[in-house]
Amino acid sequence: MMVYLDNASTTRVCEEAARAALEVMTQGYGNPSSRYALGQAAAKRLEEDRAAVAAALGCESSELYFTSCGTEGDNWSIHAAVEYGRRRGKHIVTTAIEHSAVLEPLKALEAQGYRVTRLRPDKEGRVSTRALREALREDTVLVSMMLVNNELGTVQPVQECASIVKAYSPDILFHTDAVQAFLKVPFTPAELGVDLLTVSGHKVRAPKGIGAQYIRAGLKLNPLLRGGGQEKGLRPGTEATAQIAAFAAACRTWSEHGAEHRAHMAELKAYALETLKEKVPDLEVVTPGDAPHICSVSLPGYPSEMVVRALNDRGVCVSSGSACHRGKPSHVFAALGLPKRTLMGVLRISFCPDSTREEVDALAEGLAAIRAGRVGA
Ligand code: PLP
Repeated sequence: MMVYLDNASTTRVCEEAARAALEVMTQGYGNPSSRYALGQAAAKRLEEDRAAVAAALGCESSELYFTSCGTEGDNWSIHAAVEYGRRRGKHIVTTAIEHSAVLEPLKALEAQGYRVTRLRPDKEGRVSTRALREALREDTVLVSMMLVNNELGTVQPVQECASIVKAYSPDILFHTDAVQAFLKVPFTPAELGVDLLTVSGHKVRAPKGIGAQYIRAGLKLNPLLRGGGQEKGLRPGTEATAQIAAFAAACRTWSEHGAEHRAHMAELKAYALETLKEKVPDLEVVTPGDAPHICSVSLPGYPSEMVVRALNDRGVCVSSGSACHRGKPSHVFAALGLPKRTLMGVLRISFCPDSTREEVDALAEGLAAIRAGRVGA
């Protein structure tokens, strides 16, 4: 049995999404810009699919642009926001626990003379609204704060922070990376009060290579790419109609079953934390996570890379932290100030609507065997 408990890294594509992609690739494969019927049918379907993703996100279709991934949306948001504010200043506020899709473009801007304030989280992995308020300056042009952290599952106070920022100056743009929040915790961009919001398909049972970007109505930003006029000229490139159809199909299943899915993941996570604590001596819960699909634990003194390999030998997939930081301790867990033995042993466990108790039991058995010295170590 394959035990896959690394759904914050990526998810198995659901049947509905795979069927939709196959249909578009083999039948509805026209280019939406072509004037003949095959192309116009693709253009019509594209708009229906946009409406489905926009409905799942809780925004207008006109505010939603398809991108290639979450990384593109994060990069676009940051570059467009600093261009938008270029006459006002060169200061940006973010958190120390963002994904590298936010931290790396900010590092590149720093090298060009921008100043970046990185808010540090408390021990539970949350940044404080007070620290944000104190970080704002006359020359601040952008605040980028993720909604759900990909390793901790903590929800950041985005709504409160966006309202603090807008009260300080409506000209400062607020971006949130909602890649791990989309369809897992309830929100709409308007409720959050953000200007820019980024999501990605492969975290919600759509294929890799498709994302969506929310840009608040009325906000005029520059594109990241230059080319043809697709996506109202803001994201040129022939639309990835098969991936978009799959993304929309996955969103429709969440729109129908989202409440059940979230309840199932939350129940399974509670079961996992209980079972692991019971079956694996010394296991520490690092963060139970606010979002229903992510939690992190540690086997202090058992390096997580070794544990991940030993679990893999038993057909169990979990992550030793973000898959993007292979080999070094994650900057997110490091920012929590954990003792070194705990930090080196951190594992992220993440669920999807298909995850089962049998998978959790197999993980617990595997970890208990490693802890007892029957495997690896
Ligand atoms: N932001 C967060 C919080 C993520 O978890 C990820 C994926 O790991 C990304 C951005 C990047 O998304 P993508 O893999 O679609 O580029």
